[in-house]
Amino acid sequence: MRKQIVAGNWKMNCDLPDTQKLITDLKTGLVKEFNCELMIAPSTPFLYNAFNSTLDSDIEVIAQNVSEQEKGAFTGETSVDMLQSIGIKTVIIGHSERRDIYGETNELIAQKVKASVNKGMRVIFCCGEHLEIRKEDKHYDLVGNQVKIALQDLTEEQMSQIVIAYEPVWAIGTGETATPEQAQEMHAHLRNELSTLFNDSIAQNTSILYGGSVKPNNAAELFAKPDVDGGLVGGASLSAESFLNIANAI
Ligand code: 13P
Repeated sequence: MRKQIVAGNWKMNCDLPDTQKLITDLKTGLVKEFNCELMIAPSTPFLYNAFNSTLDSDIEVIAQNVSEQEKGAFTGETSVDMLQSIGIKTVIIGHSERRDIYGETNELIAQKVKASVNKGMRVIFCCGEHLEIRKEDKHYDLVGNQVKIALQDLTEEQMSQIVIAYEPVWAIGTGETATPEQAQEMHAHLRNELSTLFNDSIAQNTSILYGGSVKPNNAAELFAKPDVDGGLVGGASLSAESFLNIANAI
């Protein structure tokens, strides 16, 4: 059985008081068991505080980014070892904002994935196309290629540390969600890619999340699709109530 996951990507939105308040609100709202793993990704300076504040809850604190480098003169970067030294076990890699704003290439992202899984980290690997690509009907090729470049060198064992998040760029922060059918089609395509790159068991056991304007009012129909194993949530994860309502939709 694949893991169902709802992860909140807080991006660059919460300072320390905001981070603490949101965690307090989430813990207060966690009155029942959810049918999914819950993860939150605060900003790097607050990871340690967030990690400690959630030790007594079912929430996993994860990182938004990591360096491909191991150690040394890399100003502003954070290594896998550093994240692990404060208890972080999962990292988001390849978000479209990292690709588009900070110029991260498929090759750099592949290095980050490798550096992370080699040290035992779990990776939420993000992929997704821009609207022009979809209009040209090249989205399956482009997203398949992103997955291939990032994951093809991993061992079958390392693939158990990979979660894929399909995030069509045109749906991120725009309020325009992919339809459940569009999400399902791409997720099924990605499973086929995994089957070709590895084998059917890996294809069936890898969780594939959908991201892009997931809200409490559209989560249930997205998560009902057979190949959608949860969501990577941006804006709606900044309110404990809406994030937990989304998790409740699993
Ligand atoms: P929104 O939910 O705000 O569209 O963001 C999605 C996202 O980028 C999650 O990583």
